[in-house]
Amino acid sequence: MKNICLLGASGSIGKQSVDVIKRYPHLFNIVAVSVNKSIDYLEYLVDTFPSIKYVCIGVYELYERFKNAYPNIICYYGDEGLNQIAVVEETNYVINALVGFKGLIPTLLAIRAKKDIGLANKETLVACGHIVSKEVKENRVNLYPIDSEHSAIFQCLKGERKSNVEKLILTASGGSFRDKNRDELVNVTVKEALNHPNWSMGQKITIDSATMVNKGLEIIEAHWLFDMPYEKIDVVVHKESIIHSMVEFKDGAIKAQFGTPDMRIPIMYALSYPNRLKIDTERLDFSKITQMHFKPVDYERYPAVKMAIEVGKKGGSLPTVYNASNEVAVDAFLNSKIKFLSIERIIEKTINAHTNISNPSLEEVLASDAWARDYASKLIESGDID
Ligand code: MG
Repeated sequence: MKNICLLGASGSIGKQSVDVIKRYPHLFNIVAVSVNKSIDYLEYLVDTFPSIKYVCIGVYELYERFKNAYPNIICYYGDEGLNQIAVVEETNYVINALVGFKGLIPTLLAIRAKKDIGLANKETLVACGHIVSKEVKENRVNLYPIDSEHSAIFQCLKGERKSNVEKLILTASGGSFRDKNRDELVNVTVKEALNHPNWSMGQKITIDSATMVNKGLEIIEAHWLFDMPYEKIDVVVHKESIIHSMVEFKDGAIKAQFGTPDMRIPIMYALSYPNRLKIDTERLDFSKITQMHFKPVDYERYPAVKMAIEVGKKGGSLPTVYNASNEVAVDAFLNSKIKFLSIERIIEKTINAHTNISNPSLEEVLASDAWARDYASKLIESGDID
């Protein structure tokens, strides 16, 4: 029985996790959930799952109100509440579907509390992969990827020796602007950027897909998850999102994982591994697939991917800074404070201004994150972006 803590329950991954979990009540039990401010959804969850004993709410007024309305449920509040709910004793599995760097500390604490992790929060591994992967080993917990590409690679690697792997090949859809050149990106709007052709996802990751920062984050995530050098991680643009990623072996064989673009598949695999459980996903119909397209990443068109590989290879605190400056820039773009192409410029400027710390401690990771947020915010305020 998996007794689950679901962090970020009301987001896109959170809701799809709930959809998967509720189909197998004899296997999965939700014990603890967090939401930021989606109190209606939280009420739906506690009414639907009597097993929920703990909640965490991100907004103080809503926390107060909920606590009074549900006296039998233990309520936590804010970032500190996430740290508390991630380690409650009755759970043995934490799904981290939080967005951004705020997912890091709850993940680390849950690992130290010997909980298995279903990780949708890739920023955790990007910002602090060296510490997270070390702690996963030391605490002998399992960390299962809930990112379609990494779930695909995880599936392709099953039963294989690592020494036989030649490279990992991440597929990329190219995001909402894949058919535009850079000149056409100058005045694109938030609404256009949020219109992803293949996947229905949260706002932050949809913007990250449009800039392909998402693929940059995923390269770093793959490096830590599968302990692979950057030289052995490739990206190919595959606009249909039918192949979710591949592994090439030293004899030339390539394994790929196919499926309709439905996040419930990797969520379910992370929960049911090594078993598989039935879900009513739409099935791939090969009689209807007339073509699949592949092309290499154009690093001039998508400089964020190139920057991610560079900061990944250099390591230290640079990946933390790459991630933090992106989070600030995406937020500013979503709030119409900057233009789309400024996102990359802000990342680049912040990286260039950073003094890299090699092998940073957790405190240094937190400090680098705070430094980068401050630097990027000041860049945006000053308007000195281009
Ligand atoms: Mg992905």
